[in-house]
Amino acid sequence: MAVPPDKEVSFLESVNLSFDAALATLDIPEGMAQYIKNVNNVYQVRFPVKINGKIENFVGWRSVHSDHQLPAKGGIRFAPNVNQDEVEALAALMSYKCALVDVPFGGSKGGLLINPRKYDRDSMEKITRRFAYELIQKDYIGSGVNVPAPDMGTGQREMSWIVSTYAAHGPKDTDYFGCVTGKPVSSGGIHGRVEATGRGVVFGLREFFRHPEDVKHARLEGDTLEGKEVIVQGLGNVGYHTAQILEEEDGVKVIAILEWDGAIYDKKGLNVEEIYQYKIENKGGVKGFTKGQYFEKSAELLEQACDILIPAAREGVINQANAPRIKAKLIAEAANGPVTFKAETILNEMGVVIIPDVYLNAGGVTVSYFEWIKNLSHIRFGRMGKRYEENKNNLFIKAIEQSGKKLSEKLVSQIGQGPVELDLVRSGLDDTMRNAFQEIRERYWKEKKVKSYRTSAMSISIEKIYERYSIMGIYP
Ligand code: NAD
Repeated sequence: MAVPPDKEVSFLESVNLSFDAALATLDIPEGMAQYIKNVNNVYQVRFPVKINGKIENFVGWRSVHSDHQLPAKGGIRFAPNVNQDEVEALAALMSYKCALVDVPFGGSKGGLLINPRKYDRDSMEKITRRFAYELIQKDYIGSGVNVPAPDMGTGQREMSWIVSTYAAHGPKDTDYFGCVTGKPVSSGGIHGRVEATGRGVVFGLREFFRHPEDVKHARLEGDTLEGKEVIVQGLGNVGYHTAQILEEEDGVKVIAILEWDGAIYDKKGLNVEEIYQYKIENKGGVKGFTKGQYFEKSAELLEQACDILIPAAREGVINQANAPRIKAKLIAEAANGPVTFKAETILNEMGVVIIPDVYLNAGGVTVSYFEWIKNLSHIRFGRMGKRYEENKNNLFIKAIEQSGKKLSEKLVSQIGQGPVELDLVRSGLDDTMRNAFQEIRERYWKEKKVKSYRTSAMSISIEKIYERYSIMGIYP
């Protein structure tokens, strides 16, 4: 697809252009490439809901990009500007993401055109349950076919309503908990899912800093995140956990937080938790927060100098209009599609390195995969092995101490403990993010035709999906 030099393309076109760039580095038959690239099916639904005695109509979508692996997987977004193009783009990204991190799912995504801020809790429950019912009826929800998860504007609460609606309509399905992920732990969820995307972003960044060649390439220094200046856009699920973990565990300085109603900046570093609590108490905004400098036009702070810029809100925020003014050395795409294809071309020329969404925010779907396995196996991770491992570890400690070496109390408690579910989830997530980045960087540095991490990541994904389709064959 040739793009006119000054034209910004849609989110879906942007994803497809990245696909084309990756495809150009591979040897895949044209017909199969087209099949992998395009969305397989999309369902649009309109439905009425009676709210405060008045009937309101809603429109939503669920799109399946690929079903080379089942179920197809992807979040459901509630937003006032969601549309079919966006849902298809996000579904495509899900296919590539799952393939890249070896999560055995096809790619899907859903969206409901709604401003959740306009409705109270009870109305949201009615609307969510009705939308879920429409999707269940057409087999767009089910543990073996299609498994939604939270995205922008949805969270544990909505997933809980969806699973309960599903269970009510399919009481004989004993795997009903597996019909959706991101549920509260008390409703079949898994420890560590809420933080998973943000923690995955942090694991990805830590892995990046383990490779001096890559750090130097981004004109950064050091082998850890310690002291790095970071700007985060969007203090929602992904942005909050990313910023909070980076600040607390890695010693970064979060110098700016950008939200829909303004931004807070302090070169000396902000307290992420304080701003997050303020945001919760102030209708989801940061306006009025007094520590630090307030900027009404929050997007302007995307252009502030920093080491790492983390867009964690929505797509298209770094585009050809502001790309030339970006001063960050590294852009870590926590959101889906925050940098447009056109902007990426400009940023590449400027030497700004981008760790792409298709890799960096895969932590959410990775832990969703663990949750789905937990739901299908009907047992909490760690339940069988925790005490066994504890007993064995204590024997090791005893053996060491019998040889005359006394261990500190802290060490005894650290070594002695068997893993709980959260430990195993974090360990599986860390391993996934490390392995995937190593694969991406290896291809990036080895293959001359591969010019960015995104092209590298996408080409790995396309290859894996192609391999799967090739083995399956075309039906009939
Ligand atoms: P969320 O709704 O919890 O948070 C989004 C945040 O961005 C909110 O605080 C919102 O106020 C803010 N925001 C919206 N528009 C903004 C703007 N113009 N400027 C600044 N801030 C703005 O959503 P989320 O789940 O954190 O998702 C954020 C991004 O991460 C999306 O692109 C989503 O697709 C992607 N993502 C989410 C997950 C997940 O597990 N939730 C997984 C992978 C990718």
